[in-house]
Amino acid sequence: MAGPDLIVAGDYRTLSFWHATVPDDLSPRASLDRDLEVDVAIIGGGLTGLWTAWYLKERDPALSIAVIEKEIVGFGASGRNGGWCSALFPRSTASLDRSYGRDAALAMRGAMIATVDEVGSAAASAEIEIDYVKGGTLSYARSAVQLAAARAEVAAAAEYGVDPLELRGPQPAAGAIGASFDPNCASIHPAKLVRGLARALEERGVVIYEQTEVLDFAARTVTTARGAVRCDTVVVALEGYGATMRSTKRRVLPLYSLMIATEPLEDSLWDEIGIEHGQTFADYRHLLIYGQRTADNRFAFGGRGARYHWGSSIKPEYDRSPRVFEHLRKTLGELFPMIGDVTVTHRWGGPIGVARDWHASASFDPATGIAWAGGFVGDGLSTTNLAGRTLADLITGTDSELLRLPWVNHASPLWEPEPLRFLGANAGLAAMSIADSEERVSGRPSVTAKFMGRLTGH
Ligand SMILES: Cc1cc2nc3c(=O)[nH]c(=O)nc-3n(C[C@H](O)[C@H](O)[C@H](O)COP(=O)(O)OP(=O)(O)OC[C@H]3O[C@@H](n4cnc5c(N)ncnc54)[C@H](O)[C@@H]3O)c2cc1C
Repeated sequence: MAGPDLIVAGDYRTLSFWHATVPDDLSPRASLDRDLEVDVAIIGGGLTGLWTAWYLKERDPALSIAVIEKEIVGFGASGRNGGWCSALFPRSTASLDRSYGRDAALAMRGAMIATVDEVGSAAASAEIEIDYVKGGTLSYARSAVQLAAARAEVAAAAEYGVDPLELRGPQPAAGAIGASFDPNCASIHPAKLVRGLARALEERGVVIYEQTEVLDFAARTVTTARGAVRCDTVVVALEGYGATMRSTKRRVLPLYSLMIATEPLEDSLWDEIGIEHGQTFADYRHLLIYGQRTADNRFAFGGRGARYHWGSSIKPEYDRSPRVFEHLRKTLGELFPMIGDVTVTHRWGGPIGVARDWHASASFDPATGIAWAGGFVGDGLSTTNLAGRTLADLITGTDSELLRLPWVNHASPLWEPEPLRFLGANAGLAAMSIADSEERVSGRPSVTAKFMGRLTGH
């Protein structure tokens, strides 16, 4: 029986286009109803938690593992995202180079590129159909300033030599005078991945408790509203929701990303648009937009711009901002005028997790047995897989190249207390929007964006 603040099965379908179309019964699994003792307790049933369980079982099939999820598996960002399984990491290769040196930066980049393929092959080996097509990302340059940014990105990639990023000519459909193309991205159906992974884990003996809220955790203990869990290792896999728990409150800031999906379009219209199956797209504006052509021929299109909420609060109503949905529909029409008055069939959103220095990390403290991974910003769909493999190696004491990557045991500073957090986060969002207008009007790279870049390390 769902508690008063929990969602009932039918409502989970309305969480996103992906939840509406996943061929899966979304009825909750059993809740925890007693005290429990396991080797590993994982807090959060998103991709970070589930990939960690997956690779832990691969390293040591005898481990007893429990996943504890407040709603249902895939309720959070993992079930709702844009479906870009990319090699992007919240910090650029140049930024990692400045902090850790060239070799470490290149190792991180190489690991991310390999992760795009690993997600596809791990899903295939678990017999999970996720609509994986590695069609690459087309990033449109729709002004001279954006074209200069595209050229600079392609040149930087060539300088490092690991990315086969290429510059392309005008893209008439999007009114673009040029574009960059990155082959290292697959488009997928994210809810099929996270839901399928949960089933595959159960077949391997992992127990998943749903509609079980974790109240807090400490070394070797997880406290839930329905019983205590004693364990050797606690894996904290809450991403943006970490801001709602006392022990991790200032470690991440939840920012909202919102999306829309259209009705399916004719193949002939897609030919005119110039986006193939499996292809993802974006452009070089500062306030990020992202999209993909879904397996059933729709646009799934999203962007930032929803405001940060006081005290890092997360509420269902924040997933739906009419202003942002309207802006997304208008932007999609500006990019691809040939879609005319195509209907938007789904609207949704969810929280992503941002560390104070925009630096994702995967960490483990053997003294307390507490592992944590997060701060993926909007790049977690693939990075959670790398996090899962890394945490599995750290927890089982398996030496590997992964443990030498620069994000391992990185400690980001904490976010400021309120009201500074509220003022800073919303000023940052406003600045990115201003930066785009500034570039449109002045025709020169935005000074505001350059200043913000210094603050976020980009
Ligand atoms: C709209 C949107 C679009 C995005 N697009 C992309 C994209 O295209 N590509 C990309 O790489 N990334 C994208 N991201 C980011 C990506 O989805 C995330 O980085 C990734 O899914 C994080 O996975 P996670 O398992 O760490 O967190 P989540 O999937 O958020 O999982 C955390 C889980 O913890 C549960 N939980 C919360 N509180 C408690 C509690 N007290 N007790 C127990 N459980 C709790 C939640 O219900 C949730 O299921 C997007 C995110 C959003 C929201």
